[in-house]
Amino acid sequence: MKTALAQVSLSALQHNLAQVKQMAPESQVMAVCKANGYGHGLIEVAQALNKADAFGVARIEEAFNLRAAGINKTIVLLEGFFEAKDIASIAVNHFQTVIHNEKQLAELEQAATELEIGIPIKVWLKIDTGMSRLGIHVSQVDEFVSRLQACACVHPDLVLMTHLACADELNNKYNQTQLMAFKQASSAYSFSHSIANSAATMVLDRAKQNWVRPGIMLYGVSPIEGETGLERNLKPVMTLSSQLISVKKVDANTPVGYGGTWVTPSKTILGVVAIGYGDGYPRHAKNGTPVLINGRIVPLVGRVSMDMITVDLGCDSQDNIGDKAVLWGAGLPIEKVAESAETIAYEILCQLTTRVKWKYI
Ligand SMILES: *Cc1c(COP(=O)(O)O)cnc(C)c1O
Repeated sequence: MKTALAQVSLSALQHNLAQVKQMAPESQVMAVCKANGYGHGLIEVAQALNKADAFGVARIEEAFNLRAAGINKTIVLLEGFFEAKDIASIAVNHFQTVIHNEKQLAELEQAATELEIGIPIKVWLKIDTGMSRLGIHVSQVDEFVSRLQACACVHPDLVLMTHLACADELNNKYNQTQLMAFKQASSAYSFSHSIANSAATMVLDRAKQNWVRPGIMLYGVSPIEGETGLERNLKPVMTLSSQLISVKKVDANTPVGYGGTWVTPSKTILGVVAIGYGDGYPRHAKNGTPVLINGRIVPLVGRVSMDMITVDLGCDSQDNIGDKAVLWGAGLPIEKVAESAETIAYEILCQLTTRVKWKYI
C-alpha cells in the first residue's frame, strides 16, 4: 500500500443490495449507478449488482457503456433523452426512458412517424409532485398518458414516477404532501409506480411502491442527517487510504499549513498524509476532520493542500512514516468526513481524481 488507494468491496455492495431487498421486499429494485457508480466505477458496480432488476443512469453515454460491457439488464435513463437523435439508439439498445417534458413527448411522437422502431420503447412518466425539478405538472398527466399510449413507438404500459425533495428529513410533512399529490395524479391508472430513492426506501413505507430506486445506500452510505450507513446495517463499499509521509515533533504555538490557520496549542507530533484535493479529498475539510491511523481517530489540522493533509498525532504518537491512514470507509464513516467538510458523502465519493489507484475486492 503506497499512496492514495480506493478499495471497493464488491461483497459490501452486494450486501447492501440485499438490505434494500429486505427493506422493500415487495418492490423491484432499480440500482442507481449514475456518475460512474457514485464514483465507484460504473461497470464494476453494475457487474457486482447482477441481482438488481434494473440500472438507473443519468446520461445516455452511461447506458452505452453498460451495454458495451455486456450488461443486458434493463437500463433506465432517469432524465430521459436530451436530443431527438438519441431516440433511435434508445430503441436499438432497449433502454427505457423517463419522459418529463413536452419537448421529449413531441419528439417521441415525431419519431413514431419517421423511424421504424420495432420494439416499442418503455417510458417512465415523471410527475412533478412538488420538488420543482423534473416532471410534468399533475394537471398534465391525463394528456401525457393518452398521447404516450397513442404513440406507436411507445410501449402502452407506462411506469408513473416522482421524486421526493425531503425524504432524507425524518418526519418532514412535505413528504406526505408529495405522496398525496402523486396518489391523486396516478390513481386513475393501473400502471406501476416508483417514488423512493434511498432515503425513502429506508424510512417512508408508503413510498416503496412497485419500484424503488436506491443509489447512495447501495454504496453503504445513509442519506439521513446525523446517522451513518452502519446504523442501517449497510456496509461501506469504498475505503480510501494513503500513508504517512512525515512524522515530526513540534513545539507549542507552531502554525500549521498554508496561511498558518491552525496553531499547535501545546507541543505535539504532527503527521503528513499523502492525500489532498488533487486526489479528491475535500479542500474544505475543517480542523478536526477525522482520519484513522493505527486504529485511532486523529484530527486533521490546518488547510488541506493539493497533495497532502496534516494531522495532529498527539505527543504520545508511536506512528511511523509509511503507516496507513484511512480517510474514509471501513472504520471511519464517510458521513462524518462529509459533515466535517460541510458537504454530503455523495459529492466526495464522486470527486476522486484519476491519480487515485483502484482496487476491487
Ligand atoms: C439519483 C437518483 C436516485 C437515487 O438517489 P439516492 O439518494 O442516491 O438514493 C433516485 N431517483 C432518481 C430520479 C435519481 O436521479
